Amino acid sequence: MRAVDIIIKKRDGLELSSEEIDFFIQGYTQGDIPDYQASAWAMAVMLQGMSDREVTDLTLSMARSGDMLDMSDVEKPVADKHSTGGVGDKVTLALAPLVAAAGQPIGKMSGRGLGFSGGTLDKLESIPGWSPDVSEADFKKQLAEIGIVVAGQTADLAPADKKLYALRDVTGTVPSMALIAASIMSKKLAAGADVILLDVKQGNGAFMQTLDEAIELARLMVAIGNLAGRQVAARVTDMSQPLGLAVGNSLEVKEAIATLKGQGPPDFTELILAESAHLLHMCGRVATVPEGRAQVQAALESGAALEKFRAFVTAQGGDGRVVDTPDTILPQAPVILPLTSPQAGYLQQVRARTFGEVAVKLGGGRAKKSDTIDPSVGMILHAKVGDVVQVGDLLCEIHARTQAQAEAAAQELLTAYAWHSAPVPAPELIKTTIT
Ligand code: URA
Repeated sequence: MRAVDIIIKKRDGLELSSEEIDFFIQGYTQGDIPDYQASAWAMAVMLQGMSDREVTDLTLSMARSGDMLDMSDVEKPVADKHSTGGVGDKVTLALAPLVAAAGQPIGKMSGRGLGFSGGTLDKLESIPGWSPDVSEADFKKQLAEIGIVVAGQTADLAPADKKLYALRDVTGTVPSMALIAASIMSKKLAAGADVILLDVKQGNGAFMQTLDEAIELARLMVAIGNLAGRQVAARVTDMSQPLGLAVGNSLEVKEAIATLKGQGPPDFTELILAESAHLLHMCGRVATVPEGRAQVQAALESGAALEKFRAFVTAQGGDGRVVDTPDTILPQAPVILPLTSPQAGYLQQVRARTFGEVAVKLGGGRAKKSDTIDPSVGMILHAKVGDVVQVGDLLCEIHARTQAQAEAAAQELLTAYAWHSAPVPAPELIKTTIT
């Protein structure tokens, strides 16, 4: 078999066999197939799509590209939650401590920023010392002792996704339903969770723009998970404006900590409580979702979830004092520029995609594989869709490395906003659930 023939076959819109997919994935993982051929193949998949059978084969091949965590000796069930990617999406940071504090262990493999969307690993790495490199033995030990693990793909765990993910980020091949489904589900299968809640983001700040596309992706991932013997549900949630108020790595960690102290923005707080309650119910920890909601609410109010977050950060090498004094522990940008409203009215649009793209340009994401990111940059929103603003009211604050970068960001961010003379409803947060 030759890689070039597999690329040509997919380029011409033909269905790849299981053997061809496995040959390509294992060859790329082992370094026998170079980046340039993998880029061409990913673009062919992106443009031609894959059948459900091909996506399932791709997922299984990627999951098998390294070790599959053997969770047979771990207390069951192990829970997992994964988002398809959005702007300001720091759900894992607050959901995992809530669920763990309510007695349900959550062990997962996360990813880095992809295109305009942020990544959980990049966010957590803004905490000095925190590392996503967790051995299989430590994964299980931490799961048993603390109840939260967030690991990254490694040379041993989902290595095919580690390589493909970084390549897709910089080759315009992220928003492919097949590649997203296989990327996410391969990590979920390799990390061994029994119960998986997927958060499929939909809107201009997500890879799935329309509700139909988001539902299709959700169904595909649920089907792959069920085929692999896992209990999976997916929620389609809004990504037309940033989630919460913070966009940018350290700013989002700070917001997640504030939320665990009961001082979070309403939309973000609602989403983490709803998703945590749903996950507890899926795991059989509670008889009803409202019962789950009461438990996670109690974990939030008692401070138990905040202490779980501290224990988790410390266990993975991070500075646990971030919980007490985030401003002194997390990196801070040297320039903070206010952006004020040039118009009065009800905010009709706060376009998430623009915020994500500006965050990358400020240095919070990657344009090339070798780029290092700046954890301190980003934006803090002060108004969201449905809010009323007067001329001169603060729309957002831009955190940047230089005044010039902040001013360029301000110009671009102004295009994210639209105003209306009549009241505008806030977008519906949770659109549908697929089981
Ligand atoms: N999250 C992932 O892990 N992979 C994708 O492709 C998109 C979001």
